[in-house]
Amino acid sequence: MLDAHQTAASADRKAVPARLDALVIGAGVAGLYQLHQLREMGLKTHACDTASDVGGTWYWNRYPGAKFDSEAYIYQYLFDEQLYKGWTWSERFPGQPEIERWLHYIADTLDLRRDISFSTKVVKAVFNDATGRWTVETDQGDVIDTQFLIGCTGMLSAPLEDRFPGQSSFRGEIVHTGRYPKGGLSLDGKRVAVIGTGATGIQVIQTIAPDVAHLTVFVRTPQYVLPMKNPKYGPDEARWYKGRFDELKANIPHTFTGFEYDFENTWAELTPEQRRSVLEEIHADGSLKLWLASFAEMFFDEDVSEEISEFVREKMRARLKDPYLIDILVPKTGDYGFGTHRVPLETGYLETYLRDNVEAVSVRDNPITEIVPEGVKLRDGTVYAVDTIIMAVGFDAGSGALARIDITGREGMKLAEEWRKDIRTTLGLMKFGFPNLFMTGAPLAPSAALCNMTTCLQQQTEWIARCIQDMRDSGKDVIEPTEAGEDEWVRHHDETANATLIAKTESWYTGSNVPGKPRRVLSYTGGVGTYRKKCDEIAADGYPLFAMSKVAAPQDA
Ligand code: NAP
Repeated sequence: MLDAHQTAASADRKAVPARLDALVIGAGVAGLYQLHQLREMGLKTHACDTASDVGGTWYWNRYPGAKFDSEAYIYQYLFDEQLYKGWTWSERFPGQPEIERWLHYIADTLDLRRDISFSTKVVKAVFNDATGRWTVETDQGDVIDTQFLIGCTGMLSAPLEDRFPGQSSFRGEIVHTGRYPKGGLSLDGKRVAVIGTGATGIQVIQTIAPDVAHLTVFVRTPQYVLPMKNPKYGPDEARWYKGRFDELKANIPHTFTGFEYDFENTWAELTPEQRRSVLEEIHADGSLKLWLASFAEMFFDEDVSEEISEFVREKMRARLKDPYLIDILVPKTGDYGFGTHRVPLETGYLETYLRDNVEAVSVRDNPITEIVPEGVKLRDGTVYAVDTIIMAVGFDAGSGALARIDITGREGMKLAEEWRKDIRTTLGLMKFGFPNLFMTGAPLAPSAALCNMTTCLQQQTEWIARCIQDMRDSGKDVIEPTEAGEDEWVRHHDETANATLIAKTESWYTGSNVPGKPRRVLSYTGGVGTYRKKCDEIAADGYPLFAMSKVAAPQDA
């Protein structure tokens, strides 16, 4: 279900200029910064977004309880000290409304809105071999001739809305969390179903339970969860993190995950007692540190993975107590290891199930077969009658958003078709056969898995800006990956990813949440700092994985 505010083009919608140097698709964290950078470089640049305002992920995901689980002072743009220091956070892990306000602050401070067309969806793009330029169409009738097309479309922005047969027959309201209506839904006193217990479902469940008459949670794969500690921030904390700007800027871009912290311990060097004490201490931090800064061996070594997984399971069991709930909500030995799926932070999530008005239903062996007018139907015929269904069922990650645009590259190659066969990119920044099309948050670059998104997106947009500048400096019009270059990156990516236990698991990390999607670990797992270094070296070495050319015919022929 879509809210009219989110899609209807207003009368004052800005038309997209007909001729551009660069068109940026998306006005979220990446798109805003990319627009700023290219404009500063003197390129005629414009951005489009389907939404009615800036924010990207933080525009669309306005479901109850949506919030950061990266520390706010780290989920930041670090390219401008004044911009960083000009915004003050109210807590360690703020909620969506505050994050959205921050992105408005960014857009206002950098005066970005004058070059953004909102309520404008890019629907088609065709590369013209003769001119080396893209012809792009929007759903509002704009036709744009642009040299560069830059997809800042988000890693997790293509919601899997049509998940079950019969959804349209439902008598109540049914909504995907990634399209939650701007005005919210009235849930007070309602019987509500939540389907899905990923990072999103967990935030919804723990938030709405006290307000609804009855909450039924359909759980398929239980999650490892970590308790969040979310202190309020006042003037002292603001002084503390703002005073560390130089240190954060020097450190964050080079860590393994783009957070402030890094893996600091080596499993083999510690006794069992020392390991336990490290795990306890980090667990008490109430952040993602246990996942991203305890023992890197958990991603490679089955035994270490199992020991750390059991540590987390033990913590979860102690909170749930009830054997029925433990059976449904705590992962079992052999299911998958802690950290090989995205680890959510939660606040009282497990205790939510101890409430009288909350029911957990396992759909692991008795799956949901359809949505019927009254509610949710399982394979054994049981129908759970509800007034509202919240689908926290995830996204077609990485490739989904760009693949939903009709993009045609060289020799009629369709991006969606290519990715239906095999999900390949070069550095996660370009795709063979699609010249002058850059992408961010795309497959085979570090993204939401094991990466603080803002760190990754800044690095990727900065690399794109540098690449365009280098092309201009060398008088080139067109850049594209070579086939051999793409092979090389895919091979390196696979070697790195397939050495981890992540490659063996089922989730959006491997694309297995979308039927028929080719399997590959979507995010680069070699580390954010390492990836940055590789990207920089490739640029400094004259882009060996790419071919640059000059268009023979005049550009405006
Ligand atoms: P997700 O991790 O893909 O989780 C989807 C959930 O829906 C899973 O529990 C899945 O179960 C369930 N599901 C899907 N199809 C189902 C079906 N047919 N029947 C029953 N259950 C079904 O999606 P998400 O929770 O929206 O999170 C996606 C990503 O967004 C996260 O991993 C994270 O990177 C990001 N995120 C970030 C934040 C934050 O930073 N604060 C918050 C929320 C989300 P199975 O596991 O069995 O498939």
